[in-house]
Amino acid sequence: MSLRSSALPKLAACSSFEGKRGPAGPAALRGTTIDYKWRQALHEEYWGCEFDAWDNDEEPAELNIDDIKSLQWGIDAVKSICGSDIAFLMTKASDLKVDIPRTNSTGEMDGLLEEKRLTFDLKTGMIRNYREQMAAYALGMMTRTFTTDWTCYLIFCDQEEVVRHDFTFEEADAIVKHVAAEYHTPGKVPTMCEYCGWCAHQNNCITRIHAANQAFNTSGRLIAGESFDEILNDEDKLSEFLDGASVIGDYQAQAKNKAKELGGIDGWKTVKFKGREFVKAEKISSLLDKNGIDFASVLEYVRIPAAKLRELVGDDAEKAITRGNDVLQLRKAKRTQ
Ligand code: SF4
Repeated sequence: MSLRSSALPKLAACSSFEGKRGPAGPAALRGTTIDYKWRQALHEEYWGCEFDAWDNDEEPAELNIDDIKSLQWGIDAVKSICGSDIAFLMTKASDLKVDIPRTNSTGEMDGLLEEKRLTFDLKTGMIRNYREQMAAYALGMMTRTFTTDWTCYLIFCDQEEVVRHDFTFEEADAIVKHVAAEYHTPGKVPTMCEYCGWCAHQNNCITRIHAANQAFNTSGRLIAGESFDEILNDEDKLSEFLDGASVIGDYQAQAKNKAKELGGIDGWKTVKFKGREFVKAEKISSLLDKNGIDFASVLEYVRIPAAKLRELVGDDAEKAITRGNDVLQLRKAKRTQ
C-alpha cells in the first residue's frame, strides 16, 4: 500500500487517517488554482516557454482580488528567498516528481532549486503542520541527488508567512520511517485529531464513537446528581468531555446540513433571511462624484485592512493602525497520554 506524502502529516496525527474521496470542495479547488498559477507565473517569467496545461477534472476556481493578492505575495516570497537563483527555480510538474523512500509513492513538490538543495511548497489557508510531508520531499531529493542535507520552505500565502524546515538525511529518514511504521502497525488505535473532519472514517470511527458515548455518559452522571464542576476541575475529565462534545457537535452540524438540504424535516423547518447588503468599492467613487460628496467624509465608515495600508504607505501605516484584543482559540491536538 502506498503512502502519499501529502497524507503524512495527517498520518502522524492519527495512523488510521484516510482521506475522503470525491470532488474537491471550493477551498481545495481555490488552493489548487492558486498553486497552479503560482507555478505558471514563475515558469513563464524565467523560462519563457509554455507551461503544463491545467489537467484537473474540474475547471479552475475564479480568483478574486484577495486571492490574487495572496498569489502575488507567494510569488514575491519565493523570489526573495531565491534571490538571483530564482531564474533556475523549476516549477513544471514533470520536473517536480520525486520517489519517496519507505512509502512506495511519488511526491510532487511545487518548486525546486536543486543546485541549492531547496524545495518549495505553496500553501493556502491556515498555518498547519506539514513537517512530515516536507521530510518526505527532502528524503526523496537527498536519495536522488546523493546529498545529506536539504531545506524545504513552506510559503503560507494567505497568512503571509514562511516556515523553513532543515533536514539531515538521518532526520528526514527517521520521520518518514516512524510514520510508515505506525501506519503499518497491526491493531493500531485511531487517535482523535484536528483532521477527523477530513477523514473517511469520520462517522464510523470507533475512537470518536467511544468519545461521544463518554460525553453522553457524563449527561447520565449529571442527571444522577454529579456536578459539572467536577469535570471543570479535573483536566483529564475536561479533555475527555471536550473530545466527546466535539464529536456530538460535528454530528449535529452534519444533521443540520442534511435537514436543510431536504428543505426541512418533521420537527425542523427552514427559515430564509435576506443576504446582507454591502457596497462594492469600485462603484463608490462615481456615486460620490455624482452626489457632490467628498471622499474623505466617507472614510470614517470604512475599515481598511491593516495589511493593505502597510502595502500602500509602508512603515507610516503603523501610526494609523490599532490592534483589537487578541483572540484565544481552542483547537484539537493529539493527547500525550
Ligand atoms: S476519524 Fe478516527 S480514524 Fe479518522 S482521523 Fe479521526 S480518529 Fe483517526
